[in-house]
Amino acid sequence: MSESVMVARHLFGPGPCNPYPEATVALGRPLLGHLDPVFIETMDRACEGLRQVWGTRNARTLPLSATGSGGMEAAFVNMVEPGDVVVVGVNGLFGERMCDLAERCGAEVVRVDFEWGQPVDPETITSAHPNPKIIAVVHAETSTGVRSDIKAIGERKGDALLLVDAVTSIGGIELLADEWGIDIGYAGTQKCLGVAPGLAPFTISDRAWERRVEKPRSWYLDLGMLGGYVGEASGKQRTYHHTAPVGMVVSLAAALERILDEGLDNVRARHQAAGDELQAGLEAMGLELFAAEGYRLPELTTVKVPDGVDSAKVRAYLLEKYNMEIGAGVKQFASTVWRIGLMGPNANPGSVKLVLGALKDAIENA
Ligand SMILES: *Cc1c(COP(=O)(O)O)cnc(C)c1O
Repeated sequence: MSESVMVARHLFGPGPCNPYPEATVALGRPLLGHLDPVFIETMDRACEGLRQVWGTRNARTLPLSATGSGGMEAAFVNMVEPGDVVVVGVNGLFGERMCDLAERCGAEVVRVDFEWGQPVDPETITSAHPNPKIIAVVHAETSTGVRSDIKAIGERKGDALLLVDAVTSIGGIELLADEWGIDIGYAGTQKCLGVAPGLAPFTISDRAWERRVEKPRSWYLDLGMLGGYVGEASGKQRTYHHTAPVGMVVSLAAALERILDEGLDNVRARHQAAGDELQAGLEAMGLELFAAEGYRLPELTTVKVPDGVDSAKVRAYLLEKYNMEIGAGVKQFASTVWRIGLMGPNANPGSVKLVLGALKDAIENA
């Protein structure tokens, strides 16, 4: 197919999802300068909207100019110095990535593994080391479709700072950064927030701010310098650090406005209902879900590929016949698990029926 042909895919994989129409329309607006007062006001609105979806009053809440992994990098590079003890819960790919980053920052990494498909156990992770600087956990493990109990971990964190990956939870399921004791959090725009990939919503508490690295090894992601640009500074006090990706921030602001207009509780209920219906439908087809019961994410469902079915063929068939993308499994589950995401505007009953019907056809006929 020629690249010049516009194809609208159903993006039912692990992200990006189809953006909210409001987010897409916003990308077509005339571009503003990055210090234009109108843009600065939009940035302020985006930061305020992000506080709502994070469930925080942190002054330093902002969209970093990076994808989710850039947010992860910002979190570690600003918080970890050589020799710092960092406990990392690993129950999937993104926990592993956290270990890699912590190591690169010179941390003494205490890696605590859990079976893929299971959550991070709060008791085990918080008793893995007597006095860590940081406990790092992924809230919604997109590689396995599992939710971990951040609230319970926050209650047991002691003096440690709690660092949380909320890339796939923000805008989809309950997230209460302040109430749960999240000190450092990063996310992404292309999962449940329903925006194209490119920004990393970030938040940091005062408690963590005091304990950050004074001069991190990264210039671009140095939160101390960014603080003059967004976050602490607002409106006219803002100074240049780097050119903000203006179009993306305008798009994010539009999506946040839409989400808050619908109501956060309603948006989360919509994700939950779609996930519940999808998971019930898959089981009714005789398929087996992968993630542990009780910890399944509604926005990202993992399901086992039935014996004798070629995972890749099914995905290729869906793409060709239905313009529908679903995800393969990760690592050792690459050919034995599918990942189906119903995020952002895709979390609706029509999408559930579409994906169930298409998958049944593909399993029988691919
Ligand atoms: C997608 C994802 C990331 C990485 O985000 P990118 O935008 O791909 O850099 C990190 N953590 C989790 C849980 C994710 O789902």
